[in-house]
Amino acid sequence: MSVNRSLQVTAVPAFADNYLWLIHNEQHAVVVDPGDAGPINEALASRQLPLDAILLTHHHADHAGGVSELLNRWNVPVYGPAKENIAGVTHPLSENDNVNFAQLGLALHVLDVPGHTAGHIAYVEHNQHWLFCGDTLFAGGCGRLFEGTAAQMTQSLAKLSALANDFKVYCAHEYTLSNLRFAVTVEPNNAALSARFTQVQAARDRGESTVPSTLGEEKQTNPFLRYDQPAIIQTLRDTGRLSHAEPVEAFAALREWKNSFR
Ligand code: ZN
Ligand code: FE
Repeated sequence: MSVNRSLQVTAVPAFADNYLWLIHNEQHAVVVDPGDAGPINEALASRQLPLDAILLTHHHADHAGGVSELLNRWNVPVYGPAKENIAGVTHPLSENDNVNFAQLGLALHVLDVPGHTAGHIAYVEHNQHWLFCGDTLFAGGCGRLFEGTAAQMTQSLAKLSALANDFKVYCAHEYTLSNLRFAVTVEPNNAALSARFTQVQAARDRGESTVPSTLGEEKQTNPFLRYDQPAIIQTLRDTGRLSHAEPVEAFAALREWKNSFR
């Protein structure tokens, strides 16, 4: 395994709670989900880096809204989901496609992860153990089902959780605290979850980011990866949210509950 040690990922905060991800070395950069061009151009300028490419996970404006303005300045390819019609995309991608950036030593593998949107894709870096999952998997939660079904989302999350525990989860929003507030309600006796909730509260009190997390943490504490756990099923039954025993019903009931959770 050859790892380019100068390759790194920098969070570029945008809007209220988005993270746009800049992947770069000393000489080159690509961006994942530039919802806003301004902060990306500033991040590039401060590092004196040119932009080599734009990568998109799905069509929502907070992820793709900065593409046209970036293209005014940078003549670069735009990679995005083949199943979504996003203005500016030059390289449509779907399951098992590979995108290589030799100048960065970056190799991205594409997974179809429908659910949040119908054509949502994720990018997996198998040498670095990085996952760029947009609004599919969040630290402590998952994306809302705007266009897909609970069955699709469970399959998408299963693909992501099949990756090794040390994968870093570069999701697109700082939603961790509110996600974990829900998680501890759903699974109050999960010690790893309680510990994480305390850690995340402290980190947010200090104004720190809680992203990326690791996939291992998510498997231990994220209710949307744990919807088949007996303790979660029991909570759903006890609160009258679940009558069927199918795991996908439990997932759907959890997602529905989170939608109205305050
Ligand atoms: Zn979205
Ligand atoms: Fe989003």
